[in-house]
Amino acid sequence: MGTGGFKMAIYPKTPITDDTMTFKEGVIPFLRVWVKQEAKPLRLGAYSLQRSIDVFNCYIQLHAFMCASYGLKTTIEMQIQSINKDTWGKPLSSGSSYYDSHRNVIVLCGSLSLITYLHEFAHARGWDEIKAVRWSLSLFKRCFPKMYAALGDYQHCKKRKVE
Ligand SMILES: [Zn+2]
Repeated sequence: MGTGGFKMAIYPKTPITDDTMTFKEGVIPFLRVWVKQEAKPLRLGAYSLQRSIDVFNCYIQLHAFMCASYGLKTTIEMQIQSINKDTWGKPLSSGSSYYDSHRNVIVLCGSLSLITYLHEFAHARGWDEIKAVRWSLSLFKRCFPKMYAALGDYQHCKKRKVE
């Protein structure tokens, strides 16, 4: 979840959200519709190359919308080789996703999670760890309060309680 640099990133100790934060018009309704597609994080039992491509295609649509909303020209890539039996089920395997500021590319790894995507998108906006965590979790919470409440704390992140 870093930004590709060598400096130690400063993470908040627990997840932080700001319920007064505002977002670009249309983003919340778009995400609420988008999540109803087959964009759920991949699971090992249901994993196939085709499935991961299908899910990634959902992220390409989402990313195009987010870039238009926030005026970014960032590209998005998926690291297919990161999805396998060895990486699966490890805490936050999608947490090896990162934003490469030199290439201006978001690279998604592991099971493809929406919170991770939003976090890396925040880095693409030029934000540090604390702002990226706060923005991504606040947006997710606003869109999906029940799903957010069901997540467990995992260091500065949130993850599904039971895998
Ligand atoms: Zn990060």
